[in-house]
Amino acid sequence: MVKKIGVLTSGGDAPGMNAAIRAVVRTAVFNGIEVVGVKRGYNGLINGDFVEMDARSVGETLQRGGTILQTARCKEFREIEGVRKGIAKAREAGIDGLIVIGGDGSFRGARDLSREGLPTIAMPGTIDNDISCSEYTIGYDTCLNTVIEAVDKLRDTCSSHERCSVVEVMGRGAGYIAIEAGIACGAEVVLIPEVPYDLQKDVIDVIESGKKRGKKHNIIIVAEGVGGVVELAKVIEEKTGLEARATILGHVQRGGSPTVRDRVIASQMGARSVELLLEGKSNRIVCMQKSDIVDVDIEEGLNMKKSVSEDLIKLAHQLAI
Ligand code: ADP
Repeated sequence: MVKKIGVLTSGGDAPGMNAAIRAVVRTAVFNGIEVVGVKRGYNGLINGDFVEMDARSVGETLQRGGTILQTARCKEFREIEGVRKGIAKAREAGIDGLIVIGGDGSFRGARDLSREGLPTIAMPGTIDNDISCSEYTIGYDTCLNTVIEAVDKLRDTCSSHERCSVVEVMGRGAGYIAIEAGIACGAEVVLIPEVPYDLQKDVIDVIESGKKRGKKHNIIIVAEGVGGVVELAKVIEEKTGLEARATILGHVQRGGSPTVRDRVIASQMGARSVELLLEGKSNRIVCMQKSDIVDVDIEEGLNMKKSVSEDLIKLAHQLAI
């Protein structure tokens, strides 16, 4: 029976991580278990950087972006010696179960901890929504709302000046943010890493034909993984004669108060992860499938495949006429 659990955030931060930590802490306290916060991801585990937490220590955190436990990347944890060091520190502090909030990399660390004997449960916290076993990742909705607020503002000024705006959004390896933001903002063109594009046919011709149909502005959303927004704006200007400006939204997309969706899903996932430890489970990822909160084996979860919906890609094109 688990008596004392640790919770940590690892990898890139995401709004809603605090809601997840709060749910972990309060579900544990509700069930009479002690909770320890581990600072700065796996670094804190290796260094024994622990803080005792109770129901009050997560007060006033639900609405805050970022993570109160801080997050980090920890090279040492990729080696088995680092994992064993972390387990030794956890044992010293009486921690007999761990909850990790992060992305794919963090899940690999959680799998190694489970294998080495520390029961560990992971949950997906990343703005990119690029976790294969889960339809949803904590932080994605807040990020999308930040993006559409920014793009709506760019659209106002683009329309006034009859300009073209080329906006880079996050998503190094995946176009989830770009495609949904593109639909939500009515972008003329969305470029994602999963779909190769032809500059003339997919960008220039679309802008030219829009111009003929009386379009006053053009919003081009480009995922970070496609990149090259400054060059793209230049080429658009040269080829179409329209003034074009590039905007890289960058890290603003990672911050901000979490939306209702992120707060609720983080709360559900946080609570479920503690229940799993109480049920004696280990090596599981708490995730969302068909809108339900479920859990899968970490290794199986890491091997699953997910891709941007073809229907959404089609819809983005279809509605941009
Ligand atoms: P994310 O969790 O957001 O994918 P990273 O890929 O940076 O972010 O991973 C976060 C941390 O997880 C890393 O700094 C490292 O400590 C740990 N990690 C990543 N890959 C592995 C691995 N293959 N084995 C063990 N730990 C890993």
